[in-house]
Amino acid sequence: MGLLVQKFGGSSVADAEKIANVARRVAESAPGNQMVVVVSAMGRTTDGLLGLARQISSAPDLREMDMLLSTGEQVTIALLAIALQARGLKARSFTGPQVGLRTDHAHTQARITQIDADRVRRSLDAGEIAVVAGFQGLSDQDEITTLGRGGSDLTAVALAAALKADVCEIYTDVDGVYTADPNIVPDARKLARVAYDEMLELASLGAKVLQTRSVEFAKKYGVTVHVRSTFRPDPGTLVTKEEQGMEQAVVTGVTHDRSQAKISILRVPDRPGIAARVFGAIAVKNIVVDMIVQNISQDGHTDMSFTLPRGDYARAVAELSDVAREIGARGIVHDERVAKVSIVGVGMRSHSGVASTMFAALAREGINIQMISTSEIAVSCVIEDKYAELAVRTLHDAFDVGRGIAR
Ligand code: ADP
Ligand code: ASP
Ligand code: MG
Repeated sequence: MGLLVQKFGGSSVADAEKIANVARRVAESAPGNQMVVVVSAMGRTTDGLLGLARQISSAPDLREMDMLLSTGEQVTIALLAIALQARGLKARSFTGPQVGLRTDHAHTQARITQIDADRVRRSLDAGEIAVVAGFQGLSDQDEITTLGRGGSDLTAVALAAALKADVCEIYTDVDGVYTADPNIVPDARKLARVAYDEMLELASLGAKVLQTRSVEFAKKYGVTVHVRSTFRPDPGTLVTKEEQGMEQAVVTGVTHDRSQAKISILRVPDRPGIAARVFGAIAVKNIVVDMIVQNISQDGHTDMSFTLPRGDYARAVAELSDVAREIGARGIVHDERVAKVSIVGVGMRSHSGVASTMFAALAREGINIQMISTSEIAVSCVIEDKYAELAVRTLHDAFDVGRGIAR
């Protein structure tokens, strides 16, 4: 008998009819398998809850945010268990705390510390389909926590690892991982397989089809992840370890991230300790900075720019206004809306000229590059937000990503 973990995202469970459809799909896999089904909140419920809290306070308490956000998934588990029971199947719903998913106490961004899956195992051994709320856990102080946006993916992968499941299937509104967001690039191509390291870069650089931390977890514990469509039966994309013979296209995918902001501090005195002071002030506020650029110094002063998640922008600007004054900088300028476009591919390790091809393609469209960063298998550029989609299509064309050999 196999053990399957299946996860259904928000758009797959957006209304009662869709939940009934999920129950039908789960029922198809049930014969001969033990099944754990992880679900997200219905549709855009989580965004709606965030919006409600923001209407009341610009800086809501994070413990209370977790109390609020975790309610979304709890609605779905009960409804799906009811839908499965209506089909004559044995099913039982569980919250994150009930399945022993323990986390640290970093509210809204908690990390999993341990899973005690005994309760789920007992449910499976009793012949039940275990329906589990994604995105939530219990901290070491017995508080409800959430795992960051998209965190139901992580719940599914972590349960698959703890239960040694045969596969973790992520069901969503697209039928796999594509060479670019298929909703933006019509000729994007579905990848049959993608290596963990590439998927990690794709996810962290904006391909929101999988949460980055779920990919990290899958890599660490060797969980095979199958991303596929809730609405169509065709096979999707397997996320697995890199294999000999995997096609090594120079560029496997193009991603974009439109959730970024940029802050520059002007004419900072160029002396030891200044960067530590600036970024220390940001770090204590738990703000994660992405790209950092420092110009060469002229007459003892330099400019520093960095990008950060747009949600943290207002807090960072408030914090840095004081710091800039203290260290004698001229001031700060900021842009609340920038985009990052990236190309990703393990083939970049052994090819030269990739970055220059990227810059030339953006230049041909008159798109100015504000910041650049590179890793072993990715190159990213920060550009004006309004050019994000054009840039993705341009780069997808320039590297002929849509025409690669299917893996
Ligand atoms: P779910 O609600 O099922 O978790 P998400 O909205 O989190 O779904 O992720 C699916 C979406 O990811 C797709 O609708 C698609 O627009 C987007 N996406 C971005 N980049 C990619 C990519 N490279 N391949 C597939 N989907 C992508
Ligand atoms: N409901 C949460 C979110 O919207 C978690 C998830 O869907 O994975 O981010
Ligand atoms: Mg998601």
